[in-house]
Amino acid sequence: MLNELLEKLNKISAAVEKEFAAASSAAEIENAKVKFTGRNGSITALAPMMGKIPKEDKPAAGKAFNEAKALVAKCMEEAKERLGESASSAESVDVTLPGRKWPMGTQHPVTKTIDECCAIFRRMGFTVAAGPEIETVANCFDKLNAPIDHPSRDPKDTFYFDDGRLMRTQTSTVQIRTMLAQKPPIRIVSPGRCFRRDTPDATHGVHFHQIEGLYVDRHVTLADLKSTLKAFANEFFGEGVTIRMRPHFFPFTEPSAECDFSCVMCGGKGCRVCKNSGWLEILGCGMVNPNVLRNVDIDPEEWQGFAFGMGIERLTMLKYRIGDLRLFSENDFRFLKQF
Ligand SMILES: [Zn+2]
Repeated sequence: MLNELLEKLNKISAAVEKEFAAASSAAEIENAKVKFTGRNGSITALAPMMGKIPKEDKPAAGKAFNEAKALVAKCMEEAKERLGESASSAESVDVTLPGRKWPMGTQHPVTKTIDECCAIFRRMGFTVAAGPEIETVANCFDKLNAPIDHPSRDPKDTFYFDDGRLMRTQTSTVQIRTMLAQKPPIRIVSPGRCFRRDTPDATHGVHFHQIEGLYVDRHVTLADLKSTLKAFANEFFGEGVTIRMRPHFFPFTEPSAECDFSCVMCGGKGCRVCKNSGWLEILGCGMVNPNVLRNVDIDPEEWQGFAFGMGIERLTMLKYRIGDLRLFSENDFRFLKQF
């Protein structure tokens, strides 16, 4: 009986060595283990024979059993070692697989333009100022010298709250806040969101971005304004761009001007975008109206300033050849991924 058992265990042991040596994955090692010492494993299956072994032979039979089980454990360890750490568990990470690529976000084109404008003006000595989007009538209109019947005050054009405050219609409010908070010299640009009641279409939206500039110091002239705008035009759109100023009217500046840049699409030759004029209307500007300075307790006899404001979306559309304003707020990845 003992000999029969030893013979069977010997055969199994030979199979154990073969099986584990051939295993080439963690799963195969696990299968081999189950095959020998699992609940229905071939070594386990011999256990009932122990009951039939004569008493004097039992120690030898038990020893042979233990040796067979130990062999399984030893071969299993060796196989795992041979396959490396990656085989030590079924859930292990295959380090040879290529990494998963996480999509990187891109900057929104409007943000990109704001950053670029701020960088250009910083190099000219301006600092960046910010203010709230909900404003008072005083900061948005009164202190900016807007006449009481100015159309932009109309509730048809502006979003008012019940308490009389409003969604700012321009970033000029930051100019007022800055001049109230600090004394000249002042040199700031203020980028931000503005709101107007408008029917959204390809070139109009209820909210849009502006960047405004304000420079208040002694002996500031129109020539300073013009050279600042020219420098900006060349930095933002390129060396070849020229500018021109046309007289205009704004309540907060005197004299006031519209500033055109030579068309960045056709180089001034005339095209569909510039309506064959060779020029693009880009911004409004002028010398700060002495009334505005008085409204913020700055003496216009001692200090002068210039101010300008332009639309970020318009700059972005021209720079990146974007035809529809609505693309900026539709969150379409096919559009946004291009930036
Ligand atoms: Zn053109």
